[in-house]
Amino acid sequence: MNDLPKFITKDIHKREFGFDHYGKGPNDRYKTFSNKRALKKFLRAKTPFATYISVAFYNEPRRRQDWQHSELVFDIDAKDIPIRSCNCDNVCETCLNESLELARIYIDTLKGDLGLKNVYLVYSGRGYHIRVLDQFIMEEESELRGEILKYITGADVPTNEIPLGYTNLFINRLVRNVFHMTGKEKIEGMNTNLLKDVIKNRDKIEKSKNGNYQLGLFRDKIGPRRYKNFLDAMARVNLSMVDGKVSIDLKRILRLPSSLHSKVSMKCVEVKNLEKFDPFKYAVPKFVEERKS
Ligand SMILES: [Zn+2]
Repeated sequence: MNDLPKFITKDIHKREFGFDHYGKGPNDRYKTFSNKRALKKFLRAKTPFATYISVAFYNEPRRRQDWQHSELVFDIDAKDIPIRSCNCDNVCETCLNESLELARIYIDTLKGDLGLKNVYLVYSGRGYHIRVLDQFIMEEESELRGEILKYITGADVPTNEIPLGYTNLFINRLVRNVFHMTGKEKIEGMNTNLLKDVIKNRDKIEKSKNGNYQLGLFRDKIGPRRYKNFLDAMARVNLSMVDGKVSIDLKRILRLPSSLHSKVSMKCVEVKNLEKFDPFKYAVPKFVEERKS
């Protein structure tokens, strides 16, 4: 079995590994391996519940010292997405599909707007990790990572309404949100009436001649004051689509994408085909197993 992605095996000796031997979270940390063979041997012998790998590369990974650089990560957890059309309490097929849809949108922006090339997607078992390994980004510290997070999610209300660049990005995120709303979500800054009014008017959303949406499209329908509240609420909601703590943490460990000898059915695998990936085919999440038994 040789399913460790290349972006994982390259410079593997500079990463810190963590293991969960009992199914209670990673308790065995600061492990290192000189090459992928040594790691595989360990996994075969110990069959841990789950394996974790640092986003960081160190000259001394065993002591987590002499930091060199870290992957930039965006963590989309299906059960934490504030707007999803299923409104379920756990994780279902719908919210996993909508997490993947979000991941695709963010990856488009990372590649298209920021010119990033080494962008990988991993199915985490309950959502998706976008992992970026472009060198110039990996050397950046937390502050710029936070700025990138805000940009790709659309976490700031644009300063103008010309549907280009960031304004266009924001309006697209907003329209997506509006079409996924059920009216039952709890969105800070939007009361039930505002939520209902927005949903009532969503079928009137039209693209203009250049194929873009107009930012002011709801203003006439809901009034200027509520419109401003709506935009502020959407910016906040956008930021909460991704777990920001993960993006700014240079020393985090993430589940290792591999199906090698894990005791749990909940698999963590690299998504090679973004259009055709089906988590139910490649990796069976835990809740499905529970339902069967
Ligand atoms: Zn769901």
